[in-house]
Amino acid sequence: MLVVVVLFATVLLRAGIVLTFVYLILPTKRVCPLCGAQLVLIQHSVLRRLVPVVEHRWCLECGWSGIVRQAQSRVINRAARS
Ligand SMILES: [Zn+2]
Repeated sequence: MLVVVVLFATVLLRAGIVLTFVYLILPTKRVCPLCGAQLVLIQHSVLRRLVPVVEHRWCLECGWSGIVRQAQSRVINRAARS
């Protein structure tokens, strides 16, 4: 039983490390990485509830679409409201 707990803990630790690394490499700026234009927020109710620290944005100029980190002030404001 101890072996199962240790293996499960290492799996959780690896998942935590990978998720942290992926979060840290997400872009934080609100400009397109390809053309530099402003990105438009795409509202996702499921994404907002499951992972509130990221948001889906879209570039109107070149069509780039991707996940970016949410601004810290919005995260803090949302936490303060709830
Ligand atoms: Zn663009």
